[in-house]
Amino acid sequence: MTPEFDLIAKYFTRPVSNAVLGVGDDCALIRVAAGCELAISTDTLVCGTHFLPDTDAVKLGHKALAVNLSDLAAAGAAPRYVTLALTLPAVDEAWLAAFSRGFFKLADAAGVELIGGDTTRGPLSMTLTVFGEVPAGKGLRRDGAKAGDDVWVSGSVGGAALALRHLQGSVVLSAGVLERALERLYLPAPRNALGCALVDVAHSAIDISDGLIADLTHICERSGLAATVEWPLVPLSPALLSVGPEVRMPCALAGGDDYELCVTAGEDARAAIEAIAAKTGVALTRIGKMQPGNAEVTVIDERGAPISVGVAGFDHFSARSE
Ligand code: ADP
Ligand code: MG
Repeated sequence: MTPEFDLIAKYFTRPVSNAVLGVGDDCALIRVAAGCELAISTDTLVCGTHFLPDTDAVKLGHKALAVNLSDLAAAGAAPRYVTLALTLPAVDEAWLAAFSRGFFKLADAAGVELIGGDTTRGPLSMTLTVFGEVPAGKGLRRDGAKAGDDVWVSGSVGGAALALRHLQGSVVLSAGVLERALERLYLPAPRNALGCALVDVAHSAIDISDGLIADLTHICERSGLAATVEWPLVPLSPALLSVGPEVRMPCALAGGDDYELCVTAGEDARAAIEAIAAKTGVALTRIGKMQPGNAEVTVIDERGAPISVGVAGFDHFSARSE
């Protein structure tokens, strides 16, 4: 056996229970449940672009999978399988052990099976492809929003961007606040149960990877609508309460990496959405409306006047997320 096969066997081979065939053959084999469609998404994380070079490997294992599971959540698909293509500068067994620990802890919690991948040498990066199941015809999309829809956001936003600002040196957070913010940056909780529960009530959905405004703008573009967001309604990460509005607003509106869901749904779905929030234990906050108009998001203050501060921040942050 070559060392590569040893590594795969040691760190990335687990028995599968749902797949027909898992790691170790030329292809994995899977069966899609009757009445379901397969939802498929790929994301790459590159060292220096998507994470800092000294990022703890356990957290990286978690985050690499979490950002992919988040795409399934946005589609309303239940996570089933994942493949992992790893490019490593050198064989570092301590790193591999830590990475696979973080990866499998989340995989087990999410009910997703690793069924294959690739292992190559080069600058550190990882490409994951996730496969989920969604009842046929029910997958949530960006193009389904309707004029008059409410805009909802799950959990809270801005914490991950605040942690990044601290790491980059533009703000200095106290130890307690930093700890909470770093958790949002490194250990995002993909909203899979929530996404699955929303398939019958939401008209459109997206996960917030590039920032609330940027991602809601994608719904606007694909649905051919405008959106208005009321700044005072936006649920802020608790860590943001420790910084001034000049940091708070760009982090909450334009900061990426939160991996919350932004969804739109008719006004008649309000009670159903609140029931889903209660059942899944994830807060859902109504922050605005979809309306006819150019594909843009307007942020308004408590008096209904447009705010432009967040948009300046958005330009800055959108540059780093691809
Ligand atoms: P091939 O030459 O056919 O592409 P590989 O030597 O790349 O096969 O991989 C051997 C087996 O190990 C395959 O089943 C592949 O899916 C799996 N595999 C390789 N790397 C990984 C990884 N990082 N995680 C999970 N499975 C992997
Ligand atoms: Mg290969």
